[in-house]
Amino acid sequence: MNENSVLIVGSIGLDTIETPTQRQENKIGGSTTYSLIAASRNIPVSIVGIIGNDFPDEGHSIFNSYAKNLDDLQIVQGKTFRWGGRYHKNWDDRDTLYTELGVFSDFKPVLSDSNKNRSHIFLANIHPDLQQSIIQQNNNKDALIIIDTMNLWINTARDSLINVLSNSNILLLNESEARELTEKENLSDSASAILAMGLDTVVIKKGSNGAELFSKHESFSVGAYPIKKVVDPTGAGDTFGGGFISALACGKTIKDSLIYGSSLASLCVEGFGTDKIQKISESAIEDRFVFLKSTVKS
Ligand code: AMP
Repeated sequence: MNENSVLIVGSIGLDTIETPTQRQENKIGGSTTYSLIAASRNIPVSIVGIIGNDFPDEGHSIFNSYAKNLDDLQIVQGKTFRWGGRYHKNWDDRDTLYTELGVFSDFKPVLSDSNKNRSHIFLANIHPDLQQSIIQQNNNKDALIIIDTMNLWINTARDSLINVLSNSNILLLNESEARELTEKENLSDSASAILAMGLDTVVIKKGSNGAELFSKHESFSVGAYPIKKVVDPTGAGDTFGGGFISALACGKTIKDSLIYGSSLASLCVEGFGTDKIQKISESAIEDRFVFLKSTVKS
């Protein structure tokens, strides 16, 4: 029996998203939300996070339905994290309109005993000091730790980020983040510099150009699924991360896990916020998995 389970720490928030074609306010979002919905298709997921007493019922029902364990979800007096983003006409570039930390300002994650012993830990995008605090509380020294980050932390919390990277196994980041982190233009040079920071593996996400994986033993690329109509790119990276870690936790190979995460991410962008990933069928994932598998290049 597979007794693996995933622990996710990241943001939980209310997003206002403007794409070139529509705007929606107060969508239930955050890096934890997307990765939880993706990962929980395959494996029990516990989350560590914080929300305010203004968090809407719709959000509570998402967490109640997808998470196996909410013991470490803190619900406190105050305002839930809020983020606003606006996409450019090319659908790839995005401006952050505002970030209101709210209850996140005083967040001190505390792991209950069962969450100190998970087999797989996803440090979704959040301040690296909070990610490090999870590593410090974890008692399972064999846990596989996958970490995601963003430009903000590369620029404002670089030393903390480098510290948490040295304690993690797999880093997920996008091309521009890889270049900023290493100050190297060439992706393979950038990946080598990242591996030298103490990680086993780095996955560089290239948006509409797929993803590349580099480790000490192998490197390969996976293409992108040709999307007919992008509706909202928000959360694609988090969905990828959730899908990827859940597939690894189920015993799939790293190649198949990367393809699985890419399949889910390609579906995520076809809906607004989490709308689509809450409704994906297994056959839709399977179709994309088969297509993406044919694009792998070693
Ligand atoms: P992605 O599109 O994969 O970058 O993820 C989008 C999600 O990240 C949104 O739901 C936001 O709420 C969340 N987010 C944006 N900025 C931050 C931040 N500084 N820390 C944590 N989460 C954030």
